[in-house]
Amino acid sequence: MTAPTGHLHYPAPPRPIVEPDHPLPRFAGTEPCRTRPDDYFPTHYNHDRSEVRAAVLACRVCPQQNPCLAWALANPHLAPTGIWGATTPAERTALRRLVNASASSPR
Ligand code: SF4
Repeated sequence: MTAPTGHLHYPAPPRPIVEPDHPLPRFAGTEPCRTRPDDYFPTHYNHDRSEVRAAVLACRVCPQQNPCLAWALANPHLAPTGIWGATTPAERTALRRLVNASASSPR
């Protein structure tokens, strides 16, 4: 049995869609990021920080998560910072690399 590492493990994010024309979701205005925008633009994006964990977990139950993440992945120039679709900027960069690598690898 291995000792717990102390890191939280989140469910795997949905399969990303990287389409440049993916539209910004139509927000209802009640999403957590709309009502508490400062929580979604922390000074540091470490998951050990309670405010980052809270924002990510709120995204995970947001009905806009999939289109929000798809938009943020497709528009890095418009979403260089912030938590979008339960991801940090570094996680989006990693997801884009994965998607691009899988798209260019032979099947
Ligand atoms: S998934 Fe997108 S719309 Fe929903 S709370 Fe997170 S950042 Fe806001």
